[in-house]
Amino acid sequence: DLALAHVSHRYNGVEVLRDISFAAPAGRIVCLVGPSGCGKSTLLRFLGGLERPDEGQVTMTGEPPAGSLNPLTYIFQDFALLPWRSARGNISLALEDHRLSRREREEIIADVLARTGLSDFADALPRQLSGGMKQRVAIARALAVRPACLLMDEPLSALDSQTRELLLDDLQGLWERERFGAVYVTHNLAEAVRLGHQVVVLSRRPGQVREIVEIDMPLSERKARAAELEAHQ
Ligand code: ATP
Ligand code: MG
Repeated sequence: DLALAHVSHRYNGVEVLRDISFAAPAGRIVCLVGPSGCGKSTLLRFLGGLERPDEGQVTMTGEPPAGSLNPLTYIFQDFALLPWRSARGNISLALEDHRLSRREREEIIADVLARTGLSDFADALPRQLSGGMKQRVAIARALAVRPACLLMDEPLSALDSQTRELLLDDLQGLWERERFGAVYVTHNLAEAVRLGHQVVVLSRRPGQVREIVEIDMPLSERKARAAELEAHQ
């Protein structure tokens, strides 16, 4: 499990997070929702070890999945693909720091391309791909290292609503098959209902945990509930 305990933080004397505690259990998706500026991206950076909080602990326990090269990986809103590299080339980058033979690397790449429905696009450059396809490449790249937990920062918010729907279906399908753990940041409550086993609701700055809601709903129901929420938004 990945967990934060009593995390508080200030930037230049301004309090941005106050006493945040929650856990992201292995194999479950935790959605972080809250208004702009409440500190969601900052929390993801703490979870990923990119930055340290002023106070509190970040812990990771349990065994990573078999063959894991990296316990944590990120997926960003803007995809963060290198424009001069193909889909294969971008995925390959995530594998570069690891001692893999060329053959092993190619096997992993072929495998994640297949799992994300991108086998026919291995040689495509980012500019030849739609936004949704670019984000699929980023998801494939993140999965290539077999992380224990995917850290996703508003991965769908740069996409139009139709593409967002498709990718939500993809992510649900992937999770059904692979049961990865994830922390998923979003503004969109409907997305949280589609994907989250747990929703951590943060309040306006300084970000504090307002409530933690468990969502125990089958996939089929999630779609209908999310559509209802969208209609009311
Ligand atoms: P959004 O929904 O707009 O992405 P967020 O919830 O992700 O917002 P953060 O990006 O984590 O919020 O920022 C929380 C607060 O901390 C904001 O007021 C932001 O301006 C401030 N902040 C974030 N990173 C830094 C930094 N490196 N230096 C100074 N202030 C920062
Ligand atoms: Mg953010």
